[in-house]
Amino acid sequence: MGSSQSSSQSGTDYHGHWEDGNTCSCSDNHWYSTSCVWEKVGLWNGFARFSANLGRFLLLRTAEIAMRGRDIAQESICVYFKCQNCGAQFSYTYELMKDNKLASCGIYKKVMEVYAVHQISRPWSYYQGIFQRLSNYYDHIERNCQHWAEEFWKEI
Ligand SMILES: [Zn+2]
Repeated sequence: MGSSQSSSQSGTDYHGHWEDGNTCSCSDNHWYSTSCVWEKVGLWNGFARFSANLGRFLLLRTAEIAMRGRDIAQESICVYFKCQNCGAQFSYTYELMKDNKLASCGIYKKVMEVYAVHQISRPWSYYQGIFQRLSNYYDHIERNCQHWAEEFWKEI
């Protein structure tokens, strides 16, 4: 009966870089940003996370990684929120992945570079609006995660 569960998650190190967050249970119109960060994280963080969300693995061919050169890293926008009702704090990460754009509660723990920071107070719906307006069209060269993050940043 009391067999101890040794359920080590399918977690390899790179999974550890993404950490899911939790919002409070108040209405989202109480959530206001405290700051926004345009950041670069490791590619494998991004892709590990992508696979976690969709329940499948996406493997890039080595040749493809080599070809991508400088966009070997994922760029995303991280927005920190504070609930004005209960004081809870959490963050949302907005980014374009290969197959889709994502808005998810949580953060990348391992940030390689920060491009810009804004300390502004805007409602959560403001960011969701930007997220919804931006297209999820993806192209390696023409429109990858970096272009998308930049478009998002300009909208802020
Ligand atoms: Zn709250």
